[in-house]
Amino acid sequence: MAIYFDNAATTFLSKRAREVYLYTAENFGGNPSSVHREGHKAKEELDRNRDKAASLLGVKSSSVIFTSGATESITAFFSSLLWQEPGEILISKIEHGAVASQMAILKRFGWEVNTLKAKGGFVSAEELREKLTPKTKVVAVMAVNNVTGAIQDIKGLVSVVREFEQANRKKVFFFSDSVQALGKTGLDLTGSDVDGASFSSHKINGPRGVGILYLKNPNAFRSYAPAGGQEAGRRGGTENLPGIAAFTEAISEWCENRAANEERIRGLNKTLREALTKLNLEILSPENSTPYILSIAGTLPSEVFSRMLMDKGFCVSSGSACSNNAKGKSESIYEAMGIKHELARKAIRISFDNNSSEEDVNLLIKAFQEIING
Ligand code: PLP
Repeated sequence: MAIYFDNAATTFLSKRAREVYLYTAENFGGNPSSVHREGHKAKEELDRNRDKAASLLGVKSSSVIFTSGATESITAFFSSLLWQEPGEILISKIEHGAVASQMAILKRFGWEVNTLKAKGGFVSAEELREKLTPKTKVVAVMAVNNVTGAIQDIKGLVSVVREFEQANRKKVFFFSDSVQALGKTGLDLTGSDVDGASFSSHKINGPRGVGILYLKNPNAFRSYAPAGGQEAGRRGGTENLPGIAAFTEAISEWCENRAANEERIRGLNKTLREALTKLNLEILSPENSTPYILSIAGTLPSEVFSRMLMDKGFCVSSGSACSNNAKGKSESIYEAMGIKHELARKAIRISFDNNSSEEDVNLLIKAFQEIING
């Protein structure tokens, strides 16, 4: 099997998540909305998982809405804005396509969309302070960038918004796509005081097709698809109970020994950074990045270099796997950071999970040496 360093794109299912998935599928087969015994049993199991996920995230249970993935969580939030009078949205220039692509429909319905730069990879509190206007209704800044790993100062940015709210006596909703932060940073939803956030199961060794939409004040949210009233009317559709239970288990697994795991991965990241720097490769991830993502510029165009690594048995990404479908997207994230096009087109993303080993990192370094030194 290939040695896998593309965990920011997706991770492999953990043993624990797999076991919980199968157990839940076999033992809780009823529909949580059914009123018979099997339905009640499934509903109780759903509630138990919601309570557990909420407690791991440090929030109240009613704030956790299970979805089919982060893209749906994001779409549900932004589409809910269509029920409101249009206003202004400030969005960072480095958002994932799941957020950025929502802007077209909002514009179509009269919303004004303005961007926050991300020079050096980070959104600045000063720029946010300057750009907030009485028209601003929503600010969207991701917690950790999926291409570079840059960790945004969400707490600082939210406090700018809160000061503005007080001075102007109006609500501004702060949404933070937190997919790459879950389990991989000391994510703190209560401490950072965001109003909404999105999470995805398959980035942390849970199954595909499960996510969470976090809403601090779920009562203020009007769904675009309440359908059969599931998830308290906030997300219609029969709940993916085995997936939800396995996702909850994956969150739990990533929260156990989180700091120690992060420290170990930080060590692997440092070893790799140092070895690649010695090969005269440029590091594109800024210093304040999650250790789980390391972006560098190779010596050849990304697709060529990543194919050469694949030939040697390594899976890396030439940007963000999701954006490989939308050509140029990850290049534009580098360019938004101020990295020249010439380097951006050589970008390679190496991403870890807690299964990444020192041995695999050493083999990857050797492969880089062979490719570069011929
Ligand atoms: N947001 C970020 C930052 C991501 O990295 C991804 C996945 O690549 C998504 C959103 C979309 O997540 P999902 O695959 O669960 O829809």
